[in-house]
Amino acid sequence: MTAGTNVGEVARSIYSDGVLIDTESLGQALDATQEALKTRSCPIFEATFQYQGVLVRADLLVPDTDGYRMAEVKSSTGVKDYHLADAAVQAWVARGAGIDLSSVEIAHIDRSFVYQGGNDYRGLLHHANITEQIRPLEQEVPNWIGAARATLAGDEPAIAPGDQCHEPFDCPFIGYCSPPMAQPDPVDEQFPVEILPYGGALAASLRAEGFVDLRDVPEVRLSKPTHLRVWRATKHDTAELAPLAGAHVRALGYPRYYIDFETMQFVVPIWAGTSPYDQVPFQWSCHIEASKGSMTHTAFLADGSGDPRRPFAESLISTVGTVGAVIVYNAAFERTRLRELAESFSDLAPSLNNIIERMFDLLPVARQNYYHPDMRGSWSIKAVLPTIAPELAYDGLEVGNGGMAQEAFAEILHPDTPQARREQLRNALLIYCERDTLAMVKIAHYFENTAAM
Ligand code: SF4
Repeated sequence: MTAGTNVGEVARSIYSDGVLIDTESLGQALDATQEALKTRSCPIFEATFQYQGVLVRADLLVPDTDGYRMAEVKSSTGVKDYHLADAAVQAWVARGAGIDLSSVEIAHIDRSFVYQGGNDYRGLLHHANITEQIRPLEQEVPNWIGAARATLAGDEPAIAPGDQCHEPFDCPFIGYCSPPMAQPDPVDEQFPVEILPYGGALAASLRAEGFVDLRDVPEVRLSKPTHLRVWRATKHDTAELAPLAGAHVRALGYPRYYIDFETMQFVVPIWAGTSPYDQVPFQWSCHIEASKGSMTHTAFLADGSGDPRRPFAESLISTVGTVGAVIVYNAAFERTRLRELAESFSDLAPSLNNIIERMFDLLPVARQNYYHPDMRGSWSIKAVLPTIAPELAYDGLEVGNGGMAQEAFAEILHPDTPQARREQLRNALLIYCERDTLAMVKIAHYFENTAAM
């Protein structure tokens, strides 16, 4: 919702001569729209129309020589199917109310836009003309309205929950409708066949054959080594750790740098040089193992006063130096962020590329060599850690996952956030990110010390 609001505000800033129909009262909005249409020849935001008892509010109505361009402003990076139906209803009502529409458009985010600063967001929105695309849909609108009226007039529909409850968005009635859905039996469905990694088709055919619990599946039905490992560990309720896991970690030598990043995505970029939906890194944590048994920790967390990317990169470079393994969990994420930083700051590129070259990814080591039944088909760090160091669970942390970290940093950035709250959020972020790198240390040490030589 915040993203949508921001985009709407940006659209208004682009059409600075526009008038906003700024009232919650729909009756007043209808009157104000008519007034604006009569007396002005400027863009109208939230123009409100009614036709045959259906009311719509258009994000943007821009006068042109042949009438009006009507645009719905979206925070997506393209036109989605459900936008077309929405726009068809909007257009049908607006035309019915006497508006001459020269075009119907979806104004969506242009991912290639690069913010240059100074609140200049011209080019952020790409106007996709969908006038012809929705013409057939507009003819359907009276049928949709008839069906909606019949639904409203009738008894509660008897429709079972299904895909429609989540596409394109979660239905707000899900709490009302979902109880009758079959809940998995906590015993029978503890280890469903679906936990087989990348085994969607196999799980479906096993289900069709009547297998629900992975432990009941005969060994001959499985062929992939990972599936067999998951099956064995689950059936015998015991963890498996292959010697190779230990060998990989022991070969790393010292010093070792265990690092993890947190990033922030903005629909409307706020720092010059960034684009919509860029993953802007704002925090890193690093456990440094200078030699066996010698561990220190250091971290960076942007103060929220400006673009965090350069201080993030410079502090990381100075911490991890030029020698020693840089250990990550799921290298693709950290590697991509470092490449992006290297592109943005060419003077730092050699040092950032040096870090990339020294990266060692623990995730494939875990995936290929370790499994515990409690992981239930996942090798995410949050699934692996409790099986190795249960005392380090993420439960109870104020910030407990990447999404919460983004929300916390967004709150820090907000100018209305009190200083005391900022400090509280900073502490929570520092604790969370440190937990991630400590988790890596625990996993690496477990592999190193437990796997057979
Ligand atoms: S949750 Fe919503 S979409 Fe799903 S069945 Fe109920 S009302 Fe229909």
